[in-house]
Amino acid sequence: MVLRVYNTLTRETEDFVPLQDKKVNMYVCGPTVYDHCHLGHARSYVSFDVIRRYLVYRGYDVNYVSNITDVDDKVIDKAKESGEDTFELSRKFTESFEEDMQTLKVMEPDTRPKVTEHIEDIIDTVARLIDNGAAYATQKGNVYYDLEKSADRIGILSHQTVEGLMEGSGCRIDVEDDKRFQLDFVLWKNSPECEPGWDSPWGRGRPGWHIECSVMSMKYCSEQLDIHGGGLDLIFPHHEAEIHQSESCTGMHPFSKYWMHNGFLTIDKEKMSKSLGNFFTIKEVLAKFAPGIIRFFIVYTHYRSTIDFSEDALVEAGRARKRLLNTISNVKRAVSEAPETENDCGLSELIDETRTSFIESMDDDFNTREAIGNLFVFSRKVNSIIASEKPRKASLEKVLDFFSEINEVLGIFEDDSNSCSEEQSNGLSDDEINELIDLREKARAEKNWAKADAIRDELEEKDIIIEDGKEGVRWRRK
Ligand code: AMP
Ligand code: ZN
Repeated sequence: MVLRVYNTLTRETEDFVPLQDKKVNMYVCGPTVYDHCHLGHARSYVSFDVIRRYLVYRGYDVNYVSNITDVDDKVIDKAKESGEDTFELSRKFTESFEEDMQTLKVMEPDTRPKVTEHIEDIIDTVARLIDNGAAYATQKGNVYYDLEKSADRIGILSHQTVEGLMEGSGCRIDVEDDKRFQLDFVLWKNSPECEPGWDSPWGRGRPGWHIECSVMSMKYCSEQLDIHGGGLDLIFPHHEAEIHQSESCTGMHPFSKYWMHNGFLTIDKEKMSKSLGNFFTIKEVLAKFAPGIIRFFIVYTHYRSTIDFSEDALVEAGRARKRLLNTISNVKRAVSEAPETENDCGLSELIDETRTSFIESMDDDFNTREAIGNLFVFSRKVNSIIASEKPRKASLEKVLDFFSEINEVLGIFEDDSNSCSEEQSNGLSDDEINELIDLREKARAEKNWAKADAIRDELEEKDIIIEDGKEGVRWRRK
């Protein structure tokens, strides 16, 4: 089986062959930290986290770099508005973002570089681009990339014409009167004294947005990347600008072999974004739903498809995930009651088949939707084997190990018991349920039927079904 990846650069699904053997240099554009991150950001970082984890699962040696844009017009404007120091504000929201990522079990990047810590590198790169004749400085102290010189390369990633791009008013292109050509983009921007700035050969200023990612990816990955990722909205101008800058600097093509873009998370079919005001912060959603549910909600859609957000959709995701968690609980319980037999009851074969289908789905451009679909089938079969047969302990433990193996990639079966979300507080952890069942048993032994019934009612209210059998009490979630 070979891993295949959709590449925005070629608009084709291609065999994944890294530049050097099993080494994968992967760079994913990080957030601009001027507010708490919203669920759209979570969609991007959870999607690329799963892609990274799967590459590791398939034996690749991944170097994952993701930046923080901690100085930018939006950060400066927000600081002006709130009266806070710009760097204090960006530090606060960087921490908030890192906390959210930790809660959502997004693995830390190998390097998370910040723009403000790379100003010297950025100035050197801009100077190199001017020396190469790829950029020009203006009287106003701005430096632009000279796109007219490489007009034949415009549209290399966005696959649009110059005319089409010029008309695309929705794109984040700076409109400045000292540019030579409308699509030229800023590399270094003059800063007034009242705004953050650094001394440079072109006067006091700060980096343009695109240059940071060329500089930091080349510094912490390599001059050529295997994978460059980000959301769809970054294709133009941000990622195309990165290609122009990096390739002009190094003379090496392609700057990134594979370009991967996650689809949007929308509300009422519109992209969730800070500027549209139609967003829910990750923290707001975490107040109502456990991190595992949010992750499941994101991962249960292919990374390139759109996800439409609603509370109902999250509740539904929580229910679907619970079905898998219940199977894990059932297997754990069965392990504790497993007989001393040699009976595998077909579990080993079932695991092997499911592993093969998991890899097939994930090899198909990380098709997590299909991969999870196969897990539901697996889960149903496991439940039916446990209900009708008595597999030995070692086979049941293999099932648990297999769920852990899958979890290493998808990260959707994390324990929610420490979560203080509404979804969780309505329910009970496994330990709490077992404690209540012990209390009920004690009440029954003491013939305190009223107490025993009250406990049973309390459990039923919380969707826990208990069954009294010859071998003791069994429970399951509805
Ligand atoms: P920003 O801070 O706006 O540059 O966004 C950081 C990353 O999150 C980029 O890769 C964006 O494309 C991605 N992103 C932002 N909003 C959404 C959304 N609603 N859905 C999916 N990805 C998003
Ligand atoms: Zn970037």
